[in-house]
Amino acid sequence: MTVRLVIARPLPGTVGESRRVVHVFPVPAEETTLERLTAYCGEAFGPGELELLERPVGMPCVTCLRCSPGPGTAELPAGER
Ligand SMILES: [Zn+2]
Repeated sequence: MTVRLVIARPLPGTVGESRRVVHVFPVPAEETTLERLTAYCGEAFGPGELELLERPVGMPCVTCLRCSPGPGTAELPAGER
């Protein structure tokens, strides 16, 4: 199964400014509807709560960075690491 990595941060107003860090979300390639996303750090977000990002900007979520394969690997077959 191929997992796509999506980076996003909470939209302004949904959480405190200090918690608006960029999370990394593993999304199955087969998944077309992003109804609910759970980041590597365990934070979960529903529709309308996330600002999807093309590239990492701002402050990254440290836990997500540590748990994810790393930014820039948009397509990474699961189990490769
Ligand atoms: Zn996170």
